This record gives sequence, structure tokens and C-alpha cells, in this order.
Amino acid sequence: ETTIQRIAAGEVVERPASVVKELVENSLDADASRISVRVDGGGTERIAVTDDGIGMSREDVQIAVEEHTTSKIRDIDDLESGVATLGFRGEALYTIGAVSRTKIRTKPRGGESGTELRLVGGDVEGVGPAGCPEGTTVEVEDLFFNTPARRKYLKTDSTEFAHVNRVVTQYALANPDVAFSLEHDGREVFSTTGRGNLQSTILSVYGREVATAMIAVDGGDAVDASGYVSHPETTRSTREYVATYVNGRYVRSSVVREAILDAYGNQLAPDRYPFAVLFLDVPADSVDVNVHPRKMEVRFGDEARVKTAVRDAVQDALLDNGL
Ligand code: ADP
Ligand code: MG
Repeated sequence: ETTIQRIAAGEVVERPASVVKELVENSLDADASRISVRVDGGGTERIAVTDDGIGMSREDVQIAVEEHTTSKIRDIDDLESGVATLGFRGEALYTIGAVSRTKIRTKPRGGESGTELRLVGGDVEGVGPAGCPEGTTVEVEDLFFNTPARRKYLKTDSTEFAHVNRVVTQYALANPDVAFSLEHDGREVFSTTGRGNLQSTILSVYGREVATAMIAVDGGDAVDASGYVSHPETTRSTREYVATYVNGRYVRSSVVREAILDAYGNQLAPDRYPFAVLFLDVPADSVDVNVHPRKMEVRFGDEARVKTAVRDAVQDALLDNGL
């Protein structure tokens, strides 16, 4: 293994939260209905993501950890027609494996036997049969143990955990039909039922105080915008709780954020931000999500139109509630 590979790996895997993001996306792509995320030490000591998805055979898992291998694209047509799965670059498992001690336990649905594969710094140290339930557990220990320069950039455990929490929350809110659970240092942070709607998922992740202060948004003229925003008095001092999704995918969009804040006008105290979970449905050809896949930024064809539509939809919701 060369230094060049390690640098490339570091670009995809910046911190524990990026590992969690990739593993959760893999679980969703694998048709999981339950996903549990357990981290220790903010994820720097250990990250374990368990799902009840389709699992892998012994051969599958051996191929999956190689560079640029994916089961999600078969040919160039798949690429051109737009890929429905979340991951398709085939790099995540390989790059995560290169900068940690990783253990994968997996068993295909309806399969007879499970497999355990262990990787240390990118090298396969062992593959063998394992007793495990159907689905997959990927356990990542000692992230960046072999790349001290990267390790040095990690922040405190509580900061790293805050990033992990935000990632799992984003996916839980976008997938109310999947039961998510998040544990830190052996303590449950939240769990969702997987049978719920958006409202009950908000209750699970943000708690009763926030959930009961949420106002439904359902409308938008030029753009279909729906979800929930909080009462102007239920706020936080960071914008971290404004989660926006475009066509089901979590994105960052300063246009949408500004539109939401504009809708509140002067009802928000200075430097306070609402909770918001807002889903926009836009024609695929009016949005560019490939600006930077890892930064999850989007660009709209007609920003002014989106901004007005979102602001009006949120404003209508607030007005309907006498605000
Ligand atoms: P990609 O997601 O881009 O295909 P990854 O490196 O993340 O690349 O994963 C490689 C392959 O490993 C996937 O294409 C998939 O076949 C398999 N895989 C990874 N995680 C899981 C999982 N949780 N359940 C089932 N298969 C998985
Ligand atoms: Mg992937």
C-alpha cells in the first residue's frame, strides 16, 4: 500500500462522521429496515453499523473491500440514466479499510452461513465463517491509526460525536420507514420506530419539547415544499437544526436556508435559528446535485423561484398558526 492511496483515502474519510455516512448509505442501499449505529469516543475509538439488509456472501464481501468495486452499476447506461442508489463509486469500504482496523460480519438474506472479514490498514488479515444474523455489521476501530497526520485533525470526542449525531439524524428524518438507533459510549442517544411518519421521527430524534412546537408546511406554488418548521420561540443558537432535502436526498442549500429564515421575518430573535425539516420536490433537470457530492451542496436552475416558493410555503404555514 502506498502513500498516494492513503491520501486519496483521507479525502473521502475526513472524520468519524464521514465513515458513519458511508456505512449508513450502504445499509440503506442494501434495503435495510433496521440500522443501528454505535460509536465510542466520538467514533474515533470505534464505529459499528449494523443492518438487517440483503447481506453479502463470502465472495461478495471479499470483492466489496477491493478498490473501485461496486455492485450498484453494471454498465455505462446505469451511469447515464442516473443512479438511484446512494453510493456508486465503490470506494467507501476500501478507503475506510485502508485507514482503520475494520471487521465486517455479514450473512445474505436466506443464506446458510455468515462470513467475517478483517482488514488492518487495507490488508485483509483474515476471512472465515462466522455465526451472525442476516444482514451486515461493519465495525471500524482506531480510525487513522496509520495516518497520524489525519488523526491530529480530529477534534474532541464530543465535537466528533456531534457530527456523527447530525449525520444519523439527517438519515433518520429522511427515512421514517427505517428504524434507526444511535448509541454513544454505551448510552442510547435516540431511536426511531421505523413505523412512523415524519412527525413521530422528529419526536424520536429531537424530543417532545421540539416536536410539539412544530408547524406543518405543506405547499409551495412553483416548488413542492413539505415538512415541519418550529414555532419562532423554539430555536437554537446554531443553524444545524435546519435540515433540507431535495428529492429525498439531504442537501445543503443556502438559498433554502435563507428562504426559511426570511419567512420568520423579525419573529426570530437575533442569532437564533428554528428547527426545520423541509423536503422539496423539484424536477430532476432543474437541480444540480453534483456540485460536490461529498459536500452535499445543490444548485438550482432558478434560485429566485425556489427561494420565493419556499419562503411563501413556510410563511403560509406560520400564518395558518396565527404567527
Ligand atoms: P458503493 O456503495 O459505492 O458500491 P462501497 O465501497 O461503499 O461502494 O461498497 C462496496 C460494495 O459492498 C457495495 O456495492 C455493496 O455491494 C457491498 N456492500 C457494502 N455495504 C453493504 C451492506 N451494508 N450490505 C450489503 N452489501 C454491502
Ligand atoms: Mg457505498
